[in-house]
Amino acid sequence: MPSPELSAIKARIGDVASFYGIEVVGYLKLDRTAVIPEGDIDLLKGVRWAGGHVSTDNVQDPAQIMPGAKAMIILGKRLQDDRHDVYYRISDRYTASVEMMILDMASVCAAGLLQNAGYRATEYTSYYNKVWAVLAGLGWIGKSRMFVSKDYGPRLRLKAVLTDADIGQFHKVIPDDTCGDCRECIDACPVGAIAETGVDRKKCGACKLNHRLVSADAYSYCTCCTSACPIGKDTVNMKIKS
Ligand code: SF4
Ligand code: SF4
Repeated sequence: MPSPELSAIKARIGDVASFYGIEVVGYLKLDRTAVIPEGDIDLLKGVRWAGGHVSTDNVQDPAQIMPGAKAMIILGKRLQDDRHDVYYRISDRYTASVEMMILDMASVCAAGLLQNAGYRATEYTSYYNKVWAVLAGLGWIGKSRMFVSKDYGPRLRLKAVLTDADIGQFHKVIPDDTCGDCRECIDACPVGAIAETGVDRKKCGACKLNHRLVSADAYSYCTCCTSACPIGKDTVNMKIKS
């Protein structure tokens, strides 16, 4: 149970998320005893396994970025349009989609709120944000190997904030067989990259819909598997979940 002060900070972070139209806010307690039960989930391809368990410190350890971090706040922004995933080159050092820009702005605000209250806080971006989102109980890893939000399917873009404020909780991990018999993404992939057993990254990368130039400074990516997913297909501007 967070203190009244931390509850108030959480409420203000919710306000920030609401202001930026961010649909999902999750709070994960960071504890080195947190593990994913063996056989429960198979999301960590490419990540080291140890003793049948994957401890959170095998996944790009937040403790290296912020020693003493106690929680991760995960922000999820739904794609504005399932048919487009466009990244704009804003400068030589910053390329982002509209969704990622919104997440970048909101995460700076959330970190600022915590810092103003005397806590340490910093933005956190990682390929494995999907792992943290699963640990935060927000969804599972689907057959397309994308993070599938309970409410929005594979349409969320993710960003996190690390903090030493004890603001997180442990959550039940949703197993990746939650997709069940669905094979919409498998059937929708134009290059046959998705199988029941995993995704052929080379085939996906070679798909002509990926990394296609749509203007002098913008690239678009394939969203066929994303837009086909029935989970959250009709969700736009739903209420914020936390
Ligand atoms: S992004 Fe496109 S090419 Fe890649 S797995 Fe999904 S549907 Fe297939
Ligand atoms: S389309 Fe179906 S199988 Fe693919 S990720 Fe979504 S729920 Fe899972």
